[in-house]
Amino acid sequence: DQPEPPGPAGSTDLPPPADCMVLADNVHKSFGRLEVLRGIDLAVPAGSVACVLGPSGGGKSTFLRCINHLEKIDAGRVWVDGELVGYRQSGDRLHEMRERDIAEQRSRIGMVFQRFNLFPHLTARQNVMEAPCQVKGKRRTEARTRADELLARVGLADKGETYPAQLSGGQQQRVAIARALAMDPKLMLFDEPTSALDPELVGEVLDVMKDLARSGMTMVVVTHEIGFAREVADTVVFIDGGVVVEAGPPDQVIANPRHERTKSFLSKVL
Ligand code: ADP
Ligand code: MG
Repeated sequence: DQPEPPGPAGSTDLPPPADCMVLADNVHKSFGRLEVLRGIDLAVPAGSVACVLGPSGGGKSTFLRCINHLEKIDAGRVWVDGELVGYRQSGDRLHEMRERDIAEQRSRIGMVFQRFNLFPHLTARQNVMEAPCQVKGKRRTEARTRADELLARVGLADKGETYPAQLSGGQQQRVAIARALAMDPKLMLFDEPTSALDPELVGEVLDVMKDLARSGMTMVVVTHEIGFAREVADTVVFIDGGVVVEAGPPDQVIANPRHERTKSFLSKVL
C-alpha cells in the first residue's frame, strides 16, 4: 500500500532548486473534489522574505503546509534548501520518505501560526527549551542558555519564568517565535501570525519579525499586514483561487498591481 507519488513537476523557467531556499514547482493539492492549489510556482532565494497575500480560502495556508509536508501534494515538487521535500528520488521514481526523515526535514523549518499553541503548563523558557531537549537531545543547561538568549532577542528577557496564561497575546506570539528559532531553522514559515492579536499588540510581533528578516533569515509570511509586506518583503506573492495571480517586488505588486483581482483585493485591505 505504497502511497501514490505526486504527478509531474512543471519545470518551466524556474531556477534550479539548489539556488533557492524554497522552490515550489507546479504544486497541486485537492481535498476530495475541491482543487485548492492549481499549479503554484514560487522561488524564494536564501536570505529573502516572501510575503503571501490573498483572500481567505485562496489556498495560502495549504500552500505553507505543503512546504513542510504537513500536506502531501498531488502533483509538482517542493524543494527546501535544494532538498526534495517528503520524497526521495531513485532513478526517475519518487518514493515517500520515512516518517523519521520527514520529521528530520521538518525540524529544520520553523513554523509560527495564528494561534500561538504554547504548552500552557510550561513557562516561557521551558516552552523554548522543549524541542531542542526532546527532539535534538540537547543538554538542559545548554538549552536554557540558548532559550534565555532567544527570549531576550524577542524582547522577553524578564519573562522566562512566566506561564503563557500570564502573557499577553503579543508576548505569547513572541515566545512562539523564540520557540521556533530554538531549533535553528534555516527557513521560517509564518501563517497570519498577527491575525489573532488585538490591534495594539500587532506592532511588537511585526518588529520581531522585521529584526529576524534583517538578520538574514529566509521567511515566507502569509499576512494581511500590507505595510509590513511593503517594507520587509523582497517578493510579494498574491494567491487567489489556488494560483499565483501575480508576484514581484512590493513596488510592483502592491503599488502597481497589474491584475484586476489583485487591485480589488488591495482596495479592500488597504
Ligand atoms: P487560506 O489560508 O488562503 O484562507 P486555506 O488553504 O486555508 O486558504 O484553504 C483553501 C481551501 O481549502 C478552503 O476552501 C478550505 O476550506 C479548504 N481546505 C483547507 N484545508 C482542508 C482540509 N484539511 N480538508 C478539506 N478542505 C480543506
Ligand atoms: Mg489561512
